[in-house]
Amino acid sequence: MVSRVIPVEPFDLIIFGGTGDLARRKVLPALYRRFLSGQMPEKARIIGAARSDLDSAGYRKLIGAALKEFVSEKARKPDTVKAFLKRLEYVSIDATGTDGWQDLAKLVRADVIKAYYFSVGPALFAPLAERLHENGITGSKCRIVVEKPFGHDLASARALNDTLAKYFDEAQIYRIDHYLGKETVQNLMAVRFGNILFEPLWNAQYIDHVQITVAETVSVGGRGGYYDKSGAMRDMIQNHLMQLLCLTAMEPPSKFDPDAVRDEKLKVIRALQPVDSSDIVRGQYAGDEDEPSYIEHSENPDSITESFIAMKLHIANWRWNGTPFYLRTGKRMRARVSEIVVRFKEPPHSIFDADAGTNANQLTIRLQPNEGMDLLVTIKEPGPGGMRLIEVPLDMTFADALGQDDDEVADAYERLIMDVIRGNQTLFMRGDEVEAAWSWTDPIIEGWTKRGDKPKLYEPGTAGPEDALMLLHKDGRRWRDLKP
Ligand code: NAD
Repeated sequence: MVSRVIPVEPFDLIIFGGTGDLARRKVLPALYRRFLSGQMPEKARIIGAARSDLDSAGYRKLIGAALKEFVSEKARKPDTVKAFLKRLEYVSIDATGTDGWQDLAKLVRADVIKAYYFSVGPALFAPLAERLHENGITGSKCRIVVEKPFGHDLASARALNDTLAKYFDEAQIYRIDHYLGKETVQNLMAVRFGNILFEPLWNAQYIDHVQITVAETVSVGGRGGYYDKSGAMRDMIQNHLMQLLCLTAMEPPSKFDPDAVRDEKLKVIRALQPVDSSDIVRGQYAGDEDEPSYIEHSENPDSITESFIAMKLHIANWRWNGTPFYLRTGKRMRARVSEIVVRFKEPPHSIFDADAGTNANQLTIRLQPNEGMDLLVTIKEPGPGGMRLIEVPLDMTFADALGQDDDEVADAYERLIMDVIRGNQTLFMRGDEVEAAWSWTDPIIEGWTKRGDKPKLYEPGTAGPEDALMLLHKDGRRWRDLKP
């Protein structure tokens, strides 16, 4: 299926940290695929800016190698790669000093959209904003894209928001959460608000509970030192899972417009109840023959940082009163799965014999693997054996339903970077949303830190600590199986 390509205005996209892991693995491959699809106008340029002492030719070589590694062979057409690399320039720059800034100022054009992508560590976000301002290369046609983590707690997020606000309007600040760029996440809104079928049932009267899972198979690996100061709550729940929760639980916005959507998401965060410690399970992975344990990765023998967390949340409003939301995320788990499961209630009365069985409908929104959705519906088991009810999935895997292979489902970064150029902030977090999320997160972290709660050890390749299963079992529910 050929997707529609909407042209964008000419731009200069400046990638600070243009030689780093994220730039090489995600940002530049995403830009290449947009170039391949014909969306990059003739006068669009990409400028890598980083500490390495390179010239533009050296940078093109580096990115050529990255494309070889991170773009599928099918999408790598030699002439197109060559033409794309010609659009790249490079400036060696020090984000905290003065080196390179004059060169960058000479290179960027005043009359086109300028998008500055902060693909650097969070300590450099504020210095970069200051340097851009001092060097006079901001202005109304400019935007900044800020990577995660956006703060470490409420105070640091507020301080960063305040610094950015000195130099940029909120409409120029794009706080990126790549989960929001996933096709399925946008489809969650299309399904909820583009159909009559779901929204009337989308409330506590008909929905028993919601599960949101982001499970990874990888460990913290070499990032142990960094991760130990963060943990699953800060690294995943405060941002990614919170955003998924908001989109699932929010009221219908009056239109699909950045502030209308973000206003509704903000209301969800503000309606989150404080979480009781008995509704939180934290874990740390043990080691096995393949990899060391979390403690060994973190190099802190006394670390109480969690590599896994599961929690039960309540949203205090009319729509969700009595419907819990269960969240879980962790590393070194059985499968790499990101999904939202909406479990409906069983019909209020069964007209069938007791041995026919009963089932509840279930909508699963899969972010990975195989982006798509399926809806479990109850039908009669085929055959002459009387009325027995079974569940069958109505499956809409995008790859099958839309005739696309996995390669063609646009990567989240493709969509989000083009939204920056188009000036559309709908899928980016607003400053007040980030602060509200930290306001909810901080007391929970303070609680377990004060109590000195230790995370439970869990075996790699499992669904986390046993207690996480119990979190649902004690409510008469169960997590959807984590299938590799
Ligand atoms: P990285 O360490 O691989 O790259 C850092 C980049 O910053 C390099 O290009 C380096 O030259 C540049 N840099 C460092 N100090 C500099 C200075 N003083 N002046 C100019 N440039 C300087 O880091 P990364 O993994 O690419 O991550 C970048 C950002 O993206 C981080 O905030 C990270 O949290 C975030 N992020 C990364 C990933 C990922 O998968 N790597 C995913 C999500 C978010």
